[in-house]
Formats: sequence, structure tokens, C-alpha cells
Amino acid sequence: MASNNFSLSIIVPMYNEGENVSVFYEKITQILVSHNYDYKIICINDGSKDDTMERLRQLANHDKRVKVINLSRNFGKEIAMSAGLNYSKADIVIPIDADLQDPPEVIPLLIEKWKEGYDVVYATRKKRDGETWLKKATAHTFYRVMGKVTRFEIPADTGDFRLMTKQVVDALNQLPEQHRFMKGLFSWVGFKQTSVTYYREPRYAGKSSFNYWKLWNFAIEGITSFSFAPLQIATYLGLLIAVLSLVYATYLVIATFTLGNPVPGYPSLMVAILFFGGVQLITLGVIGEYIGRIYNESKRRPLYLVKEELNIDEEPKSAKLKIIN
Ligand code: UDP
Ligand code: MG
Repeated sequence: MASNNFSLSIIVPMYNEGENVSVFYEKITQILVSHNYDYKIICINDGSKDDTMERLRQLANHDKRVKVINLSRNFGKEIAMSAGLNYSKADIVIPIDADLQDPPEVIPLLIEKWKEGYDVVYATRKKRDGETWLKKATAHTFYRVMGKVTRFEIPADTGDFRLMTKQVVDALNQLPEQHRFMKGLFSWVGFKQTSVTYYREPRYAGKSSFNYWKLWNFAIEGITSFSFAPLQIATYLGLLIAVLSLVYATYLVIATFTLGNPVPGYPSLMVAILFFGGVQLITLGVIGEYIGRIYNESKRRPLYLVKEELNIDEEPKSAKLKIIN
């Protein structure tokens, strides 16, 4: 077996995962120990409302390799994961979901690929068990749209489950933005990337905290964080409408001369007014999405607040963090 003289950090964002904590811990520890890795498991309690934190406390008490960061409230998965990245100092880092949807068995495969000389090895899902066709279809559309509107490639059917080297993690830690669409940032930083495929399991217990409204907002986040295309659409839509209305005006002039004007054009007037009203509101909304993001970035708040740390002996690398005592 190849040498294992590297350190590994597993990053686990957790929101209401009380039922999954111990099964997850057992399963992943078994795999990490059997491969003799030098590892740490960094769990981020993202403001869970159930007993996740109590369970993590018990684990941290009897296993010093379990590190816990307790955030002051729910900040969302992207930020919880960023917190974990800030805290990890290992040679390689792997974020993974706590619900066992990302099978820990894949970790050794990721590590084997990394040994071939890659900086990022992402895990691409082959099949999504336990997810409705609607979720699969929306996810599919999302990746295709993202692929079209951004200038770099975001691999399809790939979540946050991946291996990254220290160099990549350092790069991510330097990105200052508040709106952290991780899938996009992972691709944006570049480096030598490759993939392994795996079968996505259904959630072990509990239910997904991502409903369609959240996913829709997630998609908007992704697109506005990495593309101006929606703003440009307004320009082209405006041009198209201008051209169409010129054509229509010409037709009206000709029609009035040749056929006369028996009925004054009330319906066409209403249609034009409503249509333009709609187009203007949509484009204002699109501009608003971007201005809102500029506003959020300009506040320069810390990304997250930490309420408590367990088994953490070193300070995090990032200056973005503030600890409440
Ligand atoms: N998660 C989190 N904060 C949140 C929502 C989710 O840390 O606000 C974690 C959750 O505990 C899990 C991972 O993110 O470990 C993926 O969440 P989920 O299974 O709900 O998403 P899905 O698998 O449906 O994409
Ligand atoms: Mg899940």
C-alpha cells in the first residue's frame, strides 16, 4: 500500500443531523482507521435546532480527532463549509454531507486519484436514489444553464463532495465574498481537476433541508455570482421589442391607409402597455438582484460567528472570523 504520510481533514456541515451523527461517525471512522490515515473530522454545527450539538459534544469528549465548531446560528451550508475550510490545516481536505448521501467508501478512491498528481478530485454522482424525478430534472437543468452562462466549467452532477489539496483550500480561504456559491468557487479557483464517479445513496435519516424554494434561490445565487448574462438579457430583450414595435408601427400605418381604421386600437394599446410594464418590472428585478448583492458585500460583515469550539487547538487561518466568548 502507498505511503500515508499526509494529513487529512474531513469537513462536515451539520444542520439538524441529530439522527445521523453517530451512524455517520461510526461509518467514516471505520474507513479512515482501516486505511491508517492521519485524519481529523471537523464538524460544523450550523445552528441546529435538534440535539446535534449534544451528540457532537459526546463524540468530541471521547475522540480527540473529532473537532467541533459551533456557529452562533444557522448560516447555511455554503458558509458552514467555508468555516470548516478556514479551520483546516491538513494537506488534503474533503467536505462531505452528514446524511451519508456521500458514501465515505469513496474517500480512499479520491485519495488514490490525488496520488496520481491532481489538485482537486471531485466525486460525480451516477444515480440519485430516493430523489424525485422533479428534483433530478431541476438539478439537470440547473447544471446545463450554469454551464451556458459562466465562462468556466462547473461539472454537472457534482456536489461539494471532493478532495482538495492545501493549496486549493488556501486559495478558497482568500476569496472574500459573502455570497459563497461553493460549486462555482471550486471551479473558479482552477488547478488540475479530475473526477471519480459514485452512486448517490438516499438520505440515511431525517429529510433534506433543501426545498424547491431554497433550490430556486440557490440557482439565482449561482447565476448572479458568476454571470452578468441576466443583465445583458435586458438589453437584448429591449432591442428585440424596439424592432418588433417598429415593424408593428409600419404595419399600422400601411393598414390605416389601405384598409382605413374602422375600430380604434384599444386592445393593441392595452397589450402594449401591459407587456412593456411586465418587461420593465422583470428587468428592474434582475438589476435589483445584483444591487442587493453589492449591498451585502459592501457591509463587510464577518462570514460567520463562532459560539464555541471543541478540540480545536489552533486559531483558524482566516481573519474573517470573530469568536464570541
Ligand atoms: N446543511 C447545513 N446547513 C444548512 C443546510 C444543510 O450545514 O442550512 C448540511 C446538512 O446537515 C448536510 C448537508 O448540508 O450535511 C447537505 O444537506 P441536505 O442533505 O439537506 O441537502 P441535499 O443532500 O438534499 O442537497
Ligand atoms: Mg442530503
